Amino acid sequence: MSDPQSLKLAVIGGGPGGYAAAFLAADLGMSVTLIDPEINPGGVCLYRGCIPSKALLHVAKLIEESDQAKNWGVEFAAPKIDLARLCSFKENVVNKLTGGLGILSKQRKVRYVQGRAAFENSTMLRVTKADGSQESLTFDRIVIATGSRPAIVPTLKLDTPRMMDSTGALNLEDIPGSLLVVGGGYIGLELGSVYAALGTRVTVVEMLPGLLPGADRDLVLPLHKRLEKMFEGILLNTTVAAVKDEGNSIRATLKGQDGSEQGKVFDRVLVSVGRKPNSEIPGLEKTQVKVGPKGFIQVNQQLQTDDPAISAIGDVVGEPMLAHKASHEGRVAVEAIAGHKVAFEPNAIPAVVFTDPEVAWCGLTETQAQKENREIKVAKFPWAASGRAVTLDRPDGLTKLIIDPQSERVLGVGIVGAGAGELIAEGVLAIEMAALASDVAMTIHPHPTFSETVMEAAEVFFGTSTHIYRPKRG
Ligand SMILES: Cc1cc2nc3c(=O)[nH]c(=O)nc-3n(C[C@H](O)[C@H](O)[C@H](O)COP(=O)(O)OP(=O)(O)OC[C@H]3O[C@@H](n4cnc5c(N)ncnc54)[C@H](O)[C@@H]3O)c2cc1C
Repeated sequence: MSDPQSLKLAVIGGGPGGYAAAFLAADLGMSVTLIDPEINPGGVCLYRGCIPSKALLHVAKLIEESDQAKNWGVEFAAPKIDLARLCSFKENVVNKLTGGLGILSKQRKVRYVQGRAAFENSTMLRVTKADGSQESLTFDRIVIATGSRPAIVPTLKLDTPRMMDSTGALNLEDIPGSLLVVGGGYIGLELGSVYAALGTRVTVVEMLPGLLPGADRDLVLPLHKRLEKMFEGILLNTTVAAVKDEGNSIRATLKGQDGSEQGKVFDRVLVSVGRKPNSEIPGLEKTQVKVGPKGFIQVNQQLQTDDPAISAIGDVVGEPMLAHKASHEGRVAVEAIAGHKVAFEPNAIPAVVFTDPEVAWCGLTETQAQKENREIKVAKFPWAASGRAVTLDRPDGLTKLIIDPQSERVLGVGIVGAGAGELIAEGVLAIEMAALASDVAMTIHPHPTFSETVMEAAEVFFGTSTHIYRPKRG
C-alpha cells in the first residue's frame, strides 16, 4: 500500500458521501479533487433533499402547532403565507450550508471542479466544466459518489409543470388548491405534510396496504391517524393508472385493488415513487466496475468496486439511500484507500421520517424478525405515560425496544412521536455498544424528557417500569 500522502484522489459527486470522503482524504494528506456540477459541494441532500425539505417542514410544524395552541388557551390568527419569503428562507438555509462546504473545501485545499466527469479509463477522467471547456485528469484512485435521482414511471410522464418530482415540489412555485401525492414513502409524506400545512388539500395514493412500507405497523399507526386529519385522503392499495393534462388541472385515474377506477382532478401531482442510482456514468464501461441488476454499483465491505483503482459510495451503491449512510461509507472508503483496516459493517443505520409525529427506527425491526423467524422480545412504552409528552400535549407516541431474549441485548429500537428523529440516536448507540436492556434501564435519563421513554421501555422488558402498572400474575 502506497503512502496516503502521495496519493492523488478524485471524488466524483459532491453530495454527503462525496464531500465527506474528499474532506477525510485531505485530512489524511491525500491530494484531492472533488468534481460536481453545482457551484459548491452539497449534492441532492443539501440542494434538493434533506435540507430544504427540513427547512419547510420546520415551518409546517409551526403552522400546525399554532393551530393546536387554541387547546391550550392561546389563539393565533390564521397564518398569512408570504411564499417568496418562505422560499428565500429555504434558499438561504441551502446557500449558508453549501457555501460553508465551499469554504471547508478551500481550507482543506481540496481542488473543487465545477463540472461533470466521464471515465477515459480506470484512472483518467475527462471533466466537462460549467463553461463547456474540457480537462483530462489522471489520478491514483477514484471514488464514485454520483448519488441518485427520482424514479420515473412511464405512465405518469406529462410535459407540464403541474407534474412534479421531489425537486419540483421543493421549488414551491405556488400553493396549489389540491395535490395528488403518488407514493406513501417518506419523501411523499414529508412533502405532502408541507403542502397540507400551507393549505393545500392533499391526497396520497399508495399501492401497498400501508404507508411507509418497511416500517413496523405500530410505529406507522399514530402517524397515519394524524395524517388522516391533515390530508384530504389516504388511498391504500391504489395505483394511478393514468394522468391527463387538462390545461388548468391534471385528471388522474385511480385504480383500486378490485380493479375499479375513478377519475379525480388535481391542481398538481407529485410523483415520489422511489429513487434510481446514477450509475450511467459516461465511460464507466472502460473500467472494470460492475453494475448490478437494480443499477447499483457493486462494492465490497471496503467500498471497493471490481476495479482496483475505483471505490464507490452512497446512493449509487445501494439501500438505504440516506445521507448519513453515504457519509459513513465515504469515510470507510477513504480509510480503506489509506490502508487502514476498516469495513462498512454497521449494526444499525437509523431511518427517520420527519413528519409530525416523526417515525424513526434502527437495527432489527419487528417485521424483519418475524420474516426471519427470529425469536425476540418486544418492550413497548406508550408516550401517554411520559410526563414530557403530556406537558407538550403530544401523547401520540411509542418507544419500543427489540431485545434478544437470551442475551438481553438491544437489537433494534423503534420510536414514533414528536422529536423521534433526535431520540433514535440513543438507540443507535445502544445497539452499536452492544448494550443490554439492563444497561439502558440503569442509565439515569433526565426528567422530564422523551429520552426517559427509552429507559422505561427497557424497564418494561423487566416488568418494572415506574410509570406502567403491570398486575402480578396468579
Ligand atoms: C426530498 C428528499 C428528502 C430527503 N431527505 C433525507 C433526510 O431527511 N435524511 C437523509 O438521510 N436522506 C434524505 N434524502 C436522501 C439523501 O438526499 C441521499 O441519500 C443523499 O443525498 C445521498 O448522498 P450521495 O453522496 O450518495 O449522493 P447525492 O447527494 O445524490 O450527490 C451526488 C452528486 O453527484 C453529482 N453527479 C452525478 N453524476 C456526476 C458526474 N458524472 N460528474 C460529476 N458529478 C456528478 C450529482 O449532480 C450530485 O450533486 C432525501 C432525498 C430527497 C430527494
